[in-house]
Amino acid sequence: MGTGVDDRRLPVFPDPLGGFKVLVMRMHELTIKGRNPEALRAADVFELIARLAGDARGLKFAVQTRMYALIGLGRLQEALAAGESLLRQHRAAGNTVDEAKTLADVAEILIRLGRLDEGLQSVARAIILLDQAPRAHARYLSALSSLGDAARAAELYELADTSARSMTDGRPEGHPDREAGELQRAEFLVEWALRLEHIGRADEAISRYQLSERLLGYWVEVYRRAGHPADAPLATALLAIALVKLGQVDEAVALAGPMIVPMRDRGQFHEARLAHLAYGIALRARGDYREARREFVAAEELTASAGQTTQRLIIQHELALLAVAEHPEAGRHVLTALRAQAQHLWSLRLERIAMLRQARRRMELEAEWTRADAAAFQDPLTGLGNRRRFDQQMALLDRGVESRPNRLVLLLVDVDKFKDINDTYSHGVGDRVLVEIARALQGHCRRADVPVRFGGDEFAIFVPGDLATAARIGERIRRSVATYPWHEIAPGMRVTVSMGAAALRDGMVAGHLFDAADRQLYAAKHRGRDQLAA
Ligand code: GH3
Ligand code: MG
Repeated sequence: MGTGVDDRRLPVFPDPLGGFKVLVMRMHELTIKGRNPEALRAADVFELIARLAGDARGLKFAVQTRMYALIGLGRLQEALAAGESLLRQHRAAGNTVDEAKTLADVAEILIRLGRLDEGLQSVARAIILLDQAPRAHARYLSALSSLGDAARAAELYELADTSARSMTDGRPEGHPDREAGELQRAEFLVEWALRLEHIGRADEAISRYQLSERLLGYWVEVYRRAGHPADAPLATALLAIALVKLGQVDEAVALAGPMIVPMRDRGQFHEARLAHLAYGIALRARGDYREARREFVAAEELTASAGQTTQRLIIQHELALLAVAEHPEAGRHVLTALRAQAQHLWSLRLERIAMLRQARRRMELEAEWTRADAAAFQDPLTGLGNRRRFDQQMALLDRGVESRPNRLVLLLVDVDKFKDINDTYSHGVGDRVLVEIARALQGHCRRADVPVRFGGDEFAIFVPGDLATAARIGERIRRSVATYPWHEIAPGMRVTVSMGAAALRDGMVAGHLFDAADRQLYAAKHRGRDQLAA
C-alpha cells in the first residue's frame, strides 16, 4: 500500500479475530448471507483500517471477505488475485489448516475459470494438508466446507458429499454443530440430484431429494421456531426445490413464493435464483406454463455471472421439460438433444476424478520420497545427520569448484573416555549422553551449519566460515557439555568432549581436510582432553 505503516511493529491482539472483532463479525455475516456488494464495500473499508492499525489477522479476514464477495459477484479474476495473496499470507504464517482452506477456495475459483488442471491440483494439495492437520483445529470445519465447494464446482459430488459429511462426523443427531455441514450437504445433494435427472437417473435423484428434504426440513423448522425464518433463505429455497421435485407442489409454492422479491431486493441472487427455479417447477406442475417460463427466465438472468455452467444447464433442462409439457412432440426433441449433451458433459467428470486421483497420488509419493530420503540420511538415535549424510557432505567438496563453499571448517567432536561411561553406567546411559551431546551441537549450530554423527561417539560439524568462527562455536559446545548436569542422568557422572578443527584450503581434497581435523582432534586428546585444537 506504500503508506509506510507496514514496517511498524504489529501490536498484539489477544482475540483470534484480530483487533476489530465487531467489524469482522459484521463482514462474516454479510458473507454468509450472500450480500456481496455490501460485503465488498465493508472489506474495502476494513482492509484500510486493519492496515493502518497493523492488525495482521484482521487484514486476512478483510482479504478473505473480498475474495468471497468477488466470487459471489462472478468477478473471478479479481477473486483469484485476492485468494493467491491470502494463500501467501497463510503460508508465511505456517498455518496448514488456513492454507488448506484457502487452497480449496482458490481451487474453486480456478475450476470456475475453466483452469481445471490447476484447480484439481490445488484440491489434491488441500486434501493432503487436511489429512495431516489436527481435526480439532478451530477452522478445520471451515476448510472442509471450502473443500466441498471446490469439489462441487468440478461436479465431483461424491467428494463434496464426503467433505460435508465429515463436518458432522461424531456429532449427535440434531446437535447445533451439525448445522453448517448438513445444510451444505443438502445443497450438494440437491444439485447432484438435478444433474442426475438430466442424464435419466431419476431413482438416484429421488433418494437424494428425500435425504435433502429431511436435512433441510429439520433446520428450517428450527429457524421457524426460533422466530428467524428469514435467516435461512438458502435452506428455504433448497427445501422448496426438494419438495417440488418430490411432488409436494403447494408446500414448495408456500416456501419459495414469498422470498423471491426480498431476496432480489437484498442482492441475494443465489437464493433468489433457486427460489425462482422452485417456483417455476411448481407452476409448471400446476399447468401454468406462461408463468413458469417467466420464473425460469428470471432464474437464468440471475445466472449471468461467470463460471456457473452447471446452474445454466439446470435451468435449460427445466425449460426443456416445460417445452415437453406445452408441446409434447417438439419438446421431446429438445429434451433428447439436451440429454445427449448432458450425458457427454457428465462423462467428462470421470476424467476429472482420474485427474484428481493422479494429482493426489503424485503428491503423496513425493511426500513419501522426501520422508524416506530424510530418514536414509538421519541417525535414528540423535536425529542428526548420519554417516551417509557425512559422506554426501564430503563428496560435495570434491565435486568441483561451484559446489564448494568459499570458506569451510570441518569441526570434529569426540566424547572423552566414552568406553568408560558405557562400562561404568551402562550402554543405555551412554546412549542418553550421545543424545544430549547431539542437542548441544544443534543448540549451538547456526542454520547453515550441518551437524552429523558419523560414528559411535564421533560427531562432525561442517561450518561455513573461517577458523575463528568455528572455534567460537566449538568452544560454546565444549563449555555446554562440560557444565551440563550429567549427575541428573547418573549420579557422579561427568562428560567432556575434545574437538579438532581444520579449514578447507584451495586445492585441498575432502580426505585431506578430514585428516587435518583428525590430527587436531588427536592433539586435543593428547593434551588432556576437554579442549579444542585448531
Ligand atoms: P577417547 O577419549 O580416546 O575418545 O576414549 P573413548 O573411550 O571415547 O574411545 P573410543 O572413541 O574409541 O570409544 C568409543 C566407544 O563408543 C566404543 C563403543 O563401545 C562406544 N559406542 C559406539 N557406538 C555406541 C552407541 O551407539 N551407544 C553407546 N552407548 N556406545 C557406543
Ligand atoms: Mg571417544
